[in-house]
Amino acid sequence: MISSTPNILERDRLLLISSTDELAGILKERYQNCTLVKTSSLLEGIDELAHGNSSDSDRGSIRAVVVHVTDDDPQLQPALRGLREAAGEQTKVILCCAVELEPHVRSIAPSGADDYLLLPFDDAEFDAALGFVSRSELTKNACQPATASMEELAALSDLLAQIGQDDFSSLAKMADLVRLAMQSESVTIVADGSTASSGGTVADPVLVEQIKRGTKTIGQISVGPRRLPYRPADIEKLSHYGRLASHLLDAAATHRSWRKEALTDELSGLYNRRYAMRLLNDLLTRARRERFRVTVLLFDIDNFKSYNDAYGHAAGDEIIRCIGKMFQSHCRDHDIVTRYGGDEFCVIFWDADQPRVAGSTHPLDAMSVLERFKKDLLGWQCESLVNHAAGSITISGGLASFPWDASTSEELVAQADEALLRAKSAGKNRVLVFGEHTDAPSKS
Ligand code: GH3
Ligand code: MG
Repeated sequence: MISSTPNILERDRLLLISSTDELAGILKERYQNCTLVKTSSLLEGIDELAHGNSSDSDRGSIRAVVVHVTDDDPQLQPALRGLREAAGEQTKVILCCAVELEPHVRSIAPSGADDYLLLPFDDAEFDAALGFVSRSELTKNACQPATASMEELAALSDLLAQIGQDDFSSLAKMADLVRLAMQSESVTIVADGSTASSGGTVADPVLVEQIKRGTKTIGQISVGPRRLPYRPADIEKLSHYGRLASHLLDAAATHRSWRKEALTDELSGLYNRRYAMRLLNDLLTRARRERFRVTVLLFDIDNFKSYNDAYGHAAGDEIIRCIGKMFQSHCRDHDIVTRYGGDEFCVIFWDADQPRVAGSTHPLDAMSVLERFKKDLLGWQCESLVNHAAGSITISGGLASFPWDASTSEELVAQADEALLRAKSAGKNRVLVFGEHTDAPSKS
């Protein structure tokens, strides 16, 4: 499509250096007043410039040189310097290339070119590069200048605000933002082993930008087509988004690791009390809606202080670590074992797949886990307790279930604690269910 008639003198000559015929037809049609001279190599082009600009004054001067770059030949850079010398300062030297050669052309352009353009051409952009219309005129007429729109800035600030949130799905939001920024039909981002797309998966990208961490490539942004051709300014914008993606991914990862640290108990590697309460709150909210039950077990090592006193603090640490791990090994993946503090643990059992049955209050899953754990504990010999009989370490616990025993997380833990205290008073080495009588012997 010819956007307007460029202002060219009939005596102007345009030199095209290209090993293919692809561009000659386009330039002939676009600049009909102009004489097109074509050579197929840079050396021939330099020769043409040397002769054309000296002796034969009838031929008119070469107004601009268009170099069609079709590969990443390293010899192009020195040849480009020679071409610039032969062309002089008055003649424009423009490089053109397909999108995939953009990084190469961008790096060599400063050696002798005034500008570079991507194929297919945007007519107005090409006129401006050749000096046929002024840059300001182009900017006035350009439909999509590569600046950031208000909408883009708003989306960017939303994305930044969400980095600290628990459910920050950075890639998907970033893909939406880049799609908006590039005004493209689709964007796919792959980074750190995850993929996210906006507007569908980009199978055949028009633009690609690497996402780097230091010198290492950790992913890439693939951009699909759009209605208007992409321009160098768009590619520069995309490279900024590549860097932004890298910074955002780093910030989100740092936040995740801080969060994990804040919610994890260093000694046992289990989640801590803060996490237990947060999870319990969230679970009860869901359980009310989806009608599943939640059972809390609080358990505590019997006479733990005596092991510390007899074998030292390190041996006590070892007991805490092993008991936590042992209990966890008997739970289902979605049950959560946490270290509640000191020698006390809080376990949250929940039945995601089973809506509660009317009238049933018995935490059967918790009981069967406890049975398996106690069996394991009976045969366990802690390596740090030299000369100490296997099976001598015991626990006491208390169980309470939502919705029967309590309606809030604090209440649920308080009821389990009450049952635990009764188990201790009743002689330890037992687990009691909230509301059951203490006179029963060991319940597990
Ligand atoms: P009970 O049967 O009534 O539970 O008696 P106990 O000795 O287990 O309970 P008590 O609360 O008297 O003692 C708990 C001890 O746990 C006191 C504290 O020094 C010790 N402790 C708390 N945290 C740690 C820890 O991280 N490592 C070690 N080694 N000891 C700890
Ligand atoms: Mg204890």
